Amino acid sequence: MLTTTKKILTKANKNNYAVPAFNINNLETLQPIMKVCNQLKSPVIIQTSEGAIDYAGIENLIFLVKIASLKSKIPIALHLDHGKDMKLIKKAIDSGYTSVMIDASHYKFHTNIALTKEIVEYAHKKNVSVEAELGTIGGKEDKVKSKEILLTDPEKALDFVKKTKVDSLAVAIGTSHGAYKFKTKPKLDIKRLKQIKKLISVPLVLHGASSIPQPIVKKINKFGGKVKNTKGNPDSEIKKAISAGINKINIDSDLRLAFTSGLRENLKKNPENFDLRKYLNAGKLEIEKIVRHKINLFGCGNQ
Ligand SMILES: [Zn+2]
Repeated sequence: MLTTTKKILTKANKNNYAVPAFNINNLETLQPIMKVCNQLKSPVIIQTSEGAIDYAGIENLIFLVKIASLKSKIPIALHLDHGKDMKLIKKAIDSGYTSVMIDASHYKFHTNIALTKEIVEYAHKKNVSVEAELGTIGGKEDKVKSKEILLTDPEKALDFVKKTKVDSLAVAIGTSHGAYKFKTKPKLDIKRLKQIKKLISVPLVLHGASSIPQPIVKKINKFGGKVKNTKGNPDSEIKKAISAGINKINIDSDLRLAFTSGLRENLKKNPENFDLRKYLNAGKLEIEKIVRHKINLFGCGNQ
């Protein structure tokens, strides 16, 4: 059942759990996510970046998710991740996305407010939810790139939500985008998160929150990959963030790494095979494991 992120996240906010927002690029990323979410009866946000739309085509992605939602009883939202192109955000709203993110966090505060407000007014007329970002999350992934991490100011967050009427807010509390996040053990600013949560009532979103599982990185490198030494956010930190009020957690890098590990192992072990379904299936199975782990960690099964 296709629904808005507002509906999914309001319930999560009330009951203090987080919903995963998985980035997809094709059928092979969507299928394993849907399989496990259906099994565990978990609400899910399927999101596509602007890069995914460049890769697969917006219509293809919309229809993939629509068809998946017809066969499913769980609440599913189709969300545009990091919308930066105003035209594309509006196109997504007009074409069937139930939720969009307007990322104007790299602009000055007042410009971020103005652009966010414009999208909120456009989207709400069509019952589409809007996520915005305040502060800079940093790191590099897809078309998102920022060297510095500027943590979200709680008072500014309150002002921002009041002025824009946004439905959810991505906050910067020390996470970082992409697979190459931290050289040392990361630590999230939970105190800041609690201050923000106290002030504002809309659901809060965590970006750059992949855990970069070390066994998966090792597997990739064992079968010919060259993923450099990198660390993600430990599950213990993510748990603390959920208790402190995070309701949506974006997951992209972990899915990419998992898929790649399965693919590499299968290709290396079966050099004679050229049936693409076999090695793509191996990648899909690794995605299933990640999805199951995240749902258990986030507490959103049977919701
Ligand atoms: Zn992000």
